[in-house]
Amino acid sequence: MYTAESISKILKGELLQQTGNAEIEHILLDSRKLLIPETSLFIPLVSERRNAHQYIDEMYQKGVSNFVVSEPMSTAQYPKANIILVKNSLQALHTLVAYHRHQFQIPVIGITGSNGKTIVKEWLFQLLEKDYNIVRSPKSYNSQIGVPLSVWQMKPENQMAIFEAGISQPGEMVNLEKIIRPTIGIFTNIGEAHNEGFLNIRQKVNEKLILFMKSDVLIYCKDYLALNECVNNFHNLVGKREIDNDLQLLTWSRKTDADLRIIGVDKNDNHTRIDALYKQEPLFIRIPFVDEGSIENAIHCWALMLYLGKSQAVIQERMNLLGNIAMRLEMKQGINNSTIINDSYNSDLGSLAIALEFLQQQRQHPQRTVILSDILQSGKSEGSLYEEVAGMLEKKGIQKLIGIGKNISREKQSFSKIKSSFYPTTEDFLKEVNPADFQNESILVKGARVFKFERIGKLLEQKAHQTILEINLSAIAHNVKQYQALLKPGIKLMAMVKAFSYGSGSFEIASLLQFHGVDYLAVAYADEGVELRRAGITLPIMVMNPEPSTFDAILQWNLEPELYSMHILEQFEEVVRYANKTDYPVHIKLDTGMHRLGFEQADLDQLAIRLKEDGLFKVQSIFSHLAGSEDPAMDAFTRKQAQLFTQMSALLQQQLGYAVIRHIANSAAIHRHPDLQLDMVRLGIGMYGVDSTSFQDKLRNVSTLKTTVAQLKRIPAGDTVGYGGKWKAKVPSLIATVRIGYADGYDRKLGNGNGKMMIRTKLAPVIGVVAMDMLMLDVTHIADVQEGDEVIVFGEELTVQQLAKWADTIPYEILTGISQRVKRVYFQE
Ligand SMILES: *Cc1c(COP(=O)(O)O)cnc(C)c1O
Repeated sequence: MYTAESISKILKGELLQQTGNAEIEHILLDSRKLLIPETSLFIPLVSERRNAHQYIDEMYQKGVSNFVVSEPMSTAQYPKANIILVKNSLQALHTLVAYHRHQFQIPVIGITGSNGKTIVKEWLFQLLEKDYNIVRSPKSYNSQIGVPLSVWQMKPENQMAIFEAGISQPGEMVNLEKIIRPTIGIFTNIGEAHNEGFLNIRQKVNEKLILFMKSDVLIYCKDYLALNECVNNFHNLVGKREIDNDLQLLTWSRKTDADLRIIGVDKNDNHTRIDALYKQEPLFIRIPFVDEGSIENAIHCWALMLYLGKSQAVIQERMNLLGNIAMRLEMKQGINNSTIINDSYNSDLGSLAIALEFLQQQRQHPQRTVILSDILQSGKSEGSLYEEVAGMLEKKGIQKLIGIGKNISREKQSFSKIKSSFYPTTEDFLKEVNPADFQNESILVKGARVFKFERIGKLLEQKAHQTILEINLSAIAHNVKQYQALLKPGIKLMAMVKAFSYGSGSFEIASLLQFHGVDYLAVAYADEGVELRRAGITLPIMVMNPEPSTFDAILQWNLEPELYSMHILEQFEEVVRYANKTDYPVHIKLDTGMHRLGFEQADLDQLAIRLKEDGLFKVQSIFSHLAGSEDPAMDAFTRKQAQLFTQMSALLQQQLGYAVIRHIANSAAIHRHPDLQLDMVRLGIGMYGVDSTSFQDKLRNVSTLKTTVAQLKRIPAGDTVGYGGKWKAKVPSLIATVRIGYADGYDRKLGNGNGKMMIRTKLAPVIGVVAMDMLMLDVTHIADVQEGDEVIVFGEELTVQQLAKWADTIPYEILTGISQRVKRVYFQE
């Protein structure tokens, strides 16, 4: 049991104030994640852009009474708090959790590598959960912050721990090693991608190997040559150090001699049989997957099972039952104007907290419902477990609970403060439920795998047709962070969510951005802003194209128009005057060379006078737009625009007599012209994962447009395909008809072989002309294509930039052109 006093000792901190000695159970780093104040310890972290010490007050008001701070503070304001002062709060977090780790003498599996960490971790859990009470990292918590939060979950009843570790720059693994201190190591693989932050692949491997400094054994695949070489060097090095136990290597290979020598990989239908020699003995497993990634991940798990001495029969039986890992939390449109958030990852407290936070972030419906199964794997007594769950639900403002399972039903009295109903099994619920009981609400569907909540999802989701645009919300958050990291401290960020957030959605994206602390939103038209306000968006919203017919709505919903001409200013002035408003927030657009919208130099004097008249307006910002910030050939023009902007905005500001935010940089300018970041930047396309420079490497793919094969046809040489018979088969051919056409936004220019789609990881050309709802692909050269197969139109591997090139356009047009009949599905990893 930890208390402020014991933690202060562990951290060698200064106990500025001690008022009690209550038990501390939870570590809270993010004020938004507060769930159980009484037993939480708030550790505010400090980064270049954010200092969480500013939330101490709020956390105290909400009932937190334990703090570890790294800034001196007056304790008088917080008479009931225990406050520990340390030098560096992140360091303190690491020290505290490393101490916690050392209280346990159980096998701890540490996993690192480029890909597969999370799947290997989850599969090991599936393979071993019958034998051990296992604690593991939630989802892919593997960072400097995720790892401590994972390891802090270790409890006396755990018999095994599985944690993953990921790093993005040198120097980080030392910390993670101290916290995880794995006894068993797995190095999954090493990819060339994402070398950023490291000089080269070897430096990256060596840094990652630090995780296994004190391990008993390291499992890895020798077929990665650079990895193998680095491991051998590392092994020599570690051997020379005076460590009581040597590091044992357990290798596997598909090519050369290894402890586990793979001698056959035989794929059929939906299974793969893998044959190997282990200590000269022939063995095999069958797994219900056929892709190469899964095969590699399964062999890592296999090697570990062998190391643990599991019997051949046990290994075979469990490998055969490996299941898909649903890492995603998916958000879809539901029936009766509801929103369904599906999380079938698992049912434990950690992931429930993550899902509830997502529900809180997406606030399009005031009414929030949770459908929850029994919570498995917690090690707490049932009573206190469900009381904790009830506390979490109440904190997050959940109005309705549907509990499914024997355990949660038995503990129904814990939920007396929430409108709730209980069913012993999923079948019972499905039998009795009336779909009309769900409307205009957000519904979180969260169940352990055995409860098969997919069936509930099916019932509540709106039936969508099979062409969908998947939006990765985690990738948007990642991309925003990449740009934020480039901003000098204090510079604000305006996120451009115009045109349905470049085709990706409206309030779904805005909610995410609001949650991640962007400062401003911008939309093209007032109705887009109104939709955001209706969905609970409270950030200031600039409207770039205010039309007189929407001025009333602008005032009513507190939107901030861009004024770009005397004419529009005069019209808006009238409405503001009539509504008896003063200091109404507006934005002034200057034309510095783009010649689209904006005031010109000659307008400025008169503009200043009008803006000050009767105190009707408060200018929030002055801005202009660059015509070619991404293009080196336009750099001279960009500088000219910037100069003119500096001059014009200074003049205007001087006449206004108060400070105003100035901004001119769009996505490309943020990194290509850092001196133009001024007071605020306007982030658009980059947030959606597209950049035309090498900055692209730092971004993650956001949108994936997918469809499916409706029908396959074998046609003889000489036959033609599609309207007008534009394509003729030269040889007997296999043609796939897929469910997407120009009505979905697939450009007709992409017909006749100009465009390609990806099917079974291969490219297939679009043949003949693109029809309204369908088009045809030539799949003659692709093995095993079947009706119903998934077809990628663009995404991670086949990029939207590539598609834009084929269509002779720009990614902006493709993204914003995907029609609204294509359903958007949002997910968070
Ligand atoms: C669309 C837009 C942006 C964003 O441009 P990106 O190139 O997508 O970053 C910025 N400012 C204005 C005025 C815009 O219209």
